[in-house]
Amino acid sequence: MKPAAYDLTLATSLPDAVAALGAHEGAKAVSGGCSLGPMLNLRLARPSLLVDLRRVEALRALKRSDTHLEIGAGWTHGEIEDGVVPDVTAGLMARVAHGIAYRAVRNRGTIGGSLAHADPAADWVSTMAVLDARLVITGAGGTRLSRLGDFMIAAYTTSLADDEILSAVQVPVLSATARAGYHKVCRKTGEFAQAIGAVVLDREAGLARVVCGAIEAPPVVLEATSAALLKGEPVERVADEEVEAALAGHPASFRAMHRAAVARALNEVGA
Ligand SMILES: Cc1cc2nc3c(=O)[nH]c(=O)nc-3n(C[C@H](O)[C@H](O)[C@H](O)COP(=O)(O)OP(=O)(O)OC[C@H]3O[C@@H](n4cnc5c(N)ncnc54)[C@H](O)[C@@H]3O)c2cc1C
Repeated sequence: MKPAAYDLTLATSLPDAVAALGAHEGAKAVSGGCSLGPMLNLRLARPSLLVDLRRVEALRALKRSDTHLEIGAGWTHGEIEDGVVPDVTAGLMARVAHGIAYRAVRNRGTIGGSLAHADPAADWVSTMAVLDARLVITGAGGTRLSRLGDFMIAAYTTSLADDEILSAVQVPVLSATARAGYHKVCRKTGEFAQAIGAVVLDREAGLARVVCGAIEAPPVVLEATSAALLKGEPVERVADEEVEAALAGHPASFRAMHRAAVARALNEVGA
């Protein structure tokens, strides 16, 4: 099938893009087009206007502070994989990027597009949750910050207003001794995840976070497991119990797959 007809505008600045989205009912932003393209072709999306964000320089900014790296939403998975975007997350982001799809998709797909699409199986969704990143959202009224858990309301549903753009993510600068674990269960390399376990352990910063993702809903932070990990207590049983509780109502095989993903990610940080 071919997409329904739409107009196209090439935004050259953030205010330009926000104004175009606000001025046209049914307008949609497009970044890499990797997710939106198929939806247009299947006519699951029928925007009246596409606002192309690829010429917006502000979406390619990198701003480093002592505590955070702010990564513009327009950086591609491939650029994060290659280290063009410096990694401040104990290697987690470069590794996650490498596991997304295949190189042709990684060359076009952007971190902002992936998060705005809010597929529960998307790798950046679980990664931003485990890093407790702040998502920077720009609209006509200015900029607001949001945690992943507040941004992603449900599968494919975010708190973005029609005229708002996800402009950047702020990821914490982890200590030199921090460790990260990430395990993605998928049938073939590069496929979307069937289950995700993600762990960050930064003892110097007094931080541990364990996330169970690809659960057909926003990822869950396993609070008791995170607390046990930080204290250096055994985590295996508490993690199993928390995953079971979070996924109650799902089939046993689904729960087992997620228990395994979390256990393997924990294993990677030596827990
Ligand atoms: C074959 C294939 C395999 C894939 N495998 C994986 C995988 O294993 N793991 C994974 O995580 N992903 C996977 N993906 C998805 C891929 O990562 C996409 O790049 C990503 O989901 C969308 O990014 P994009 O820049 O192409 O966004 P687009 O397709 O351009 O946009 C997606 C949605 O976000 C909106 N949008 C885009 N940018 C912004 C913005 N800055 N602000 C607000 N709204 C915006 C659009 O309006 C649209 O609704 C796969 C995709 C394909 C085609």
